[in-house]
Amino acid sequence: MNTQKQTGHIGVTTENIFPIIKKFLYSDHEIFLRELVSNAVDATQKLKTLASVGEFKSELGDLAVRISADEQKKTLKISDRGVGMTAGEIEKYINQIAFSSANDFLDKYKKDANSMIGHFGLGFYSAFMVSKKVEIITKSWKDDAPAMKWECDGSPEYTMTETEKDDRGTEIILHIDDENKEFLEKFKIESLLKKYCRFLPVPVVFGKKTEWKDGKSVETGEDSIINDSNPAWTRKPAELTDEDYIKFYKELYPFSDDPLFWIHLNVDYPFNLTGILYFPKVKSGIDLQKNKIQLYCNQVYVTDSVEGIVPEFLTLLHGVIDSPDIPLNVSRSCLQSDGNVKKISTYITKKVADRLDEIFKNNRPQFEEKWDSLKIFIEYGIITDEKFYEKASKFVLVKDVENKCYTLDEYKSLIETNQTDKDGNLIYLYTTGKDEQYAYISEAKDKAYDVLVMDGQLDVHFVNKLEQHFEKSRFVRVDSDVIDNLIKKSDSQEVKLADEERKALVELFKSAIPPVEKTDFIVGFEHLGEKGNPVTITQNEFMRRMKEMAEMQGGMSFYGEMPTSYSLTVNLDYPLVKQVIGDKENSKELIGQMVDLALLTNGLLKGEALSKFVKRSLEMIHA
Ligand code: ADP
Ligand code: MG
Repeated sequence: MNTQKQTGHIGVTTENIFPIIKKFLYSDHEIFLRELVSNAVDATQKLKTLASVGEFKSELGDLAVRISADEQKKTLKISDRGVGMTAGEIEKYINQIAFSSANDFLDKYKKDANSMIGHFGLGFYSAFMVSKKVEIITKSWKDDAPAMKWECDGSPEYTMTETEKDDRGTEIILHIDDENKEFLEKFKIESLLKKYCRFLPVPVVFGKKTEWKDGKSVETGEDSIINDSNPAWTRKPAELTDEDYIKFYKELYPFSDDPLFWIHLNVDYPFNLTGILYFPKVKSGIDLQKNKIQLYCNQVYVTDSVEGIVPEFLTLLHGVIDSPDIPLNVSRSCLQSDGNVKKISTYITKKVADRLDEIFKNNRPQFEEKWDSLKIFIEYGIITDEKFYEKASKFVLVKDVENKCYTLDEYKSLIETNQTDKDGNLIYLYTTGKDEQYAYISEAKDKAYDVLVMDGQLDVHFVNKLEQHFEKSRFVRVDSDVIDNLIKKSDSQEVKLADEERKALVELFKSAIPPVEKTDFIVGFEHLGEKGNPVTITQNEFMRRMKEMAEMQGGMSFYGEMPTSYSLTVNLDYPLVKQVIGDKENSKELIGQMVDLALLTNGLLKGEALSKFVKRSLEMIHA
């Protein structure tokens, strides 16, 4: 054996790169394990390729990547049976790393240390974030190459000597430094492996399997493999059953309900991307969580923060995206302007829309059945993504108070004849609460109008969006005006009241309204026919929406701060109203009663006012 020792300088132009590595990468130093294990996997995959083309002719044997820690010696070892390295390869790939551009990249990426990893082939050197010394013991698959040992203690000097190694492959031995002792703990290592290496394509072994014996967990002789090397997204859709997709979903999110639908992504041109996206079942807004999609690069976990890569509304989906074409180590702002990322985002949006369209067309009953859960995603997409709107407007559903579902086109045809007003505007009526607005809904039904239910969290925005796109159309909540005014079929009869008389009547009715906190009432008069309600309380559509949106955005805003304003409309045709107007002095009780009934219909009569109303009503019955 040649015992001559080679020493040299790692090809760094900056005086000492290691303190920089430690300092800049400090926050994220756990990724060293990801980098080293994925190098081991790469080396193994290379050997498999060589075997498949017939260049490597010996036994492949066990190809597992093994991780082991020695708490006494304070070492962590990652070993593989991959291609290994010759002295020449160490020289080329380890010693002459792309540090020639070190000055450049430090200038450029000072703010974003993560960008140095991978991007500049710093993967292996991330070992120095946690180690005071790193050894490589490696033997190439090439028969005649001697095994080599490389050692470096975190200064730019390394040593390289020939050594003995029986087996082909590489061992990386990290001498963990004192600040990073946690990386020697079994639990810590295991959790990192589960996070980053869970779906690597080569078995990753850490420790032994355990079993319960006599009430405690004991190690068996069997290796514990921490990964699933053939996850569902890497397989062909044709090979997978619904059960497989659901099983994989449960693997990712153990405590979740079954997903509603899934989409298997698979492209290789003009970029490479695979993955499975799931529509989770949501019972309420509370369940909604962003950042459940996991991003992988060749089965190596990278992040679960996919903002900027998938369109905003799809961050609500679950699942996995795997692409070697997403620049993983650049800043978020760089990501967003990256051409590939833009294409990927567009592609995913299109795929999701196509898939939904397909389910809608092939199995509408199923689509309708799942609509309540699906609605939030589709509406979110429609609100935030114009391209998605274009596609989704064909399958987005609206539901009316009878629980019937319609597409936008179907619904338009349904109401077109009956709900167009005298100026040619199509009026969509909706309710946000079937019970609270019951009286108003039945007024609308009496006119054979249809009423939509818009009680979802995003419906205010959804309605806004539809109005922007629809021509000559308006959405109004059933209680935003008296029904004859909501859909004006003809010019209403003009109200003729002398100024003095009007003033007196406004006073009369206003004084009958019990105080409601932070609420104003505006009294007005209409001719609504003998059969119309004597007094109706409504809330202007525009003002209400502004207030609702202000509240949704939170914080103090102009509209949020304003008192709620209601209109109190008195029907001058109603016989009892005529009577009280004729005898103002003796009508206080009757007016109070009519006003209270209107407030009650609107859910505004509460507390003391409600109690007074009940008392007065009882007295009237006894009288
Ligand atoms: P990258 O993986 O992006 O090429 P790294 O810094 O992680 O950059 O690794 C540099 C090179 O060192 C690899 O490309 C490979 O040639 C070699 N290398 C690292 N680890 C191993 C290993 N376990 N077996 C064989 N070669 C390795
Ligand atoms: Mg690497």
